[in-house]
Formats: sequence, structure tokens, C-alpha cells
Amino acid sequence: MSEGPPGGEPRSPSTGGASDAADRPPTGRLAPSPTGRLHLGHARSFLLAWCSARARGGRVVLRVDDLDGPRCREEFVAGLLEDLDWLGLDWDGPPARQSEHGAAYAAALERLEARGALYACVCTRAEIRSARSAPQAGAGEARYPGTCRDRHADAAAAEAATGRTAGLRLRVPAGPVVVRDALAGESAHDVAAEVGDFLVARRDGAVAYQLAVVVDDDLQGVDEVIRGDDLLPSAARQALLMDLLDVPRPRWAHVPLLTDAAGTRLAKRTDALALASLRAAGVDPRAVVGWLAEVSGQPASPRATPAELLASFDLQRLPRAPVPVPDDVVERLRARG
Ligand code: GLU
Repeated sequence: MSEGPPGGEPRSPSTGGASDAADRPPTGRLAPSPTGRLHLGHARSFLLAWCSARARGGRVVLRVDDLDGPRCREEFVAGLLEDLDWLGLDWDGPPARQSEHGAAYAAALERLEARGALYACVCTRAEIRSARSAPQAGAGEARYPGTCRDRHADAAAAEAATGRTAGLRLRVPAGPVVVRDALAGESAHDVAAEVGDFLVARRDGAVAYQLAVVVDDDLQGVDEVIRGDDLLPSAARQALLMDLLDVPRPRWAHVPLLTDAAGTRLAKRTDALALASLRAAGVDPRAVVGWLAEVSGQPASPRATPAELLASFDLQRLPRAPVPVPDDVVERLRARG
């Protein structure tokens, strides 16, 4: 769907991406957010992304996702570099930072504007929440009801008329967006019904995550994206943006998450499972890698380096269900070496 303005037609799966990317060495990426210490869940996604690219002779780039202003801290940037190094994961070239991509984000916004794909919005979060007629199933995210669609000529007019700063939203076409995923297969996402016209530039002037990652991955030549499956619905939004910006879709593989023993996803605050805590507890990083390989269906010794996994690495062996982390995982890891 790269021809013409976004319309109401259903989308069909892209034929590019997966098959093209399979033929040449991929460029994968590690894209941590410096909003906390990395834990076992991050380590697993990064290990899989690294192995998948390296096992096929590909490149791996590192990008620090530091857009989220106040939540991002330099000490966490230093921490994640230390943690990746401890695990034995490397990358090609200097680390990129989202905070240095401002010009590329502005250019992408201009291209979307020029296609008539955006409109200015002055709604606050509280207004969007109160406009909801009924709670939506699942995610706590409110669907944008389209209040500002066709209301203002542009951002300047919206700001002059309302005295508020304006953000920019994508005019999301009706109908399903089909995402092809190397693990989850094909899934259809009705973005218009689920989240509606989503923000690409926030009212505080920052570019929104959905657009940022599309631009970042394109800038860094990334054609394989392996990350947690909580981001699968985001892939549909990103696919819409990629199509409008004529950016090819990557090979996506969304990995079921690690959970705690009760089945709840690991949060960054799970301090005991932070790699820094494991290191402080005397855990050998090769024990972490060996255990992560084992719960990811990869043949490995109890202790292994990431490089030792490459010869037999196969992403398709990954279990398609979340992996509970046993309560005594620290003792188990220590017992490995
Ligand atoms: N930096 C994001 C995170 O840590 C990941 C972004 C992405 O993979 O698209 O959740």
C-alpha cells in the first residue's frame, strides 16, 4: 500500500520482507530502553535476536531507545552496555541513539504530511478517556474516537483556534492489517477498531514510539526485528507507517515473554532477576546463556557463550508459549557454575 493516500481498503499481507530477507545475511538489532536495568527477559530477547542474525552471518546493531525523556537515565545506558558485554553479546558499529535521530523523524513526518496521512489533534489523554463509551476488551489503551479528524486545517490552525499545543495523528484506514511473523504466523489487526488514529507526534513535540522505531530501523538498515510478543500489535501500526513511507517490512519474530512463576510478565522492577543482581550474586554469565538457550528450545551445555549456540541455532525451535521463571532461578543458575 504505498500508492495513493490511505483509503478504506483492507490490506493484504506484504510479500516482501520475510522471503527476501531470508536470502541474504540479515541485519538484526538490540534496542534496549534505558529506563531501568536489564533483566532475564531482556537478555532472552537480545540473545535470540543476536543468535538469529549472527547464525546467518548477519550484522547486529545496537540502538538505545532514549526518547522517553524523564524516564531515561545515563546510568541505565552505562548499565545496559555493561550487561550486554557481560552476557557476551556484541554489535557492529557505534551504538545509535534515538535522541540523535530528530532530523530523520522530522523528515518522515513531512513525508506523511505531504501524503495527507496526518491531522493535528489537541485532545488530552483525559478527554480521550472520558470520550470512551465503554471499556474496551484487553489492553488498557483508549481507542482514539477521531474527535479532531477533519476539524483543523493544520497544527498551526489547531493551536490558534484552541490555545493548546497540537500533536499529529495518522489517519488509520478501516480494515485489517496483516502481519506476517516468523513465529506467530500471520495475524490480522484491525488498527482502526483497536486503537484508531494513533499519535505519530505527541503534543509535547516528541515523536511517538511507533514512528520512531520505523525510522530508526530504516536508518540502521535493520531487516530483522526480534522482540517480545507484547509488541506484536504495534507491528501492525508500524506496518501502516512503513507502507506509507515506502520502507520495506522487516522479518518480524515476536517472542513469547518470560513470566514470573505465577505467569505475570516480568517488569523492569523485578530487581532479583536484573542481570546486575545475578552478577552480584556470583552467577556465571555462561550459566545464564545456557539456561536461556534451554528454555528457548536450543541445544546447549548448561554453561555456554552466545557464540557457542550459533552452530545449531534454530529460531523455529522456540516454544510458542510464555516461559515461567522458577522462583529459585538464582540458585539454579548458581548451581550451573
Ligand atoms: N525499546 C523498546 C523496548 O525496550 C523496544 C522497541 C522495539 O523493539 O520496537 O521495549
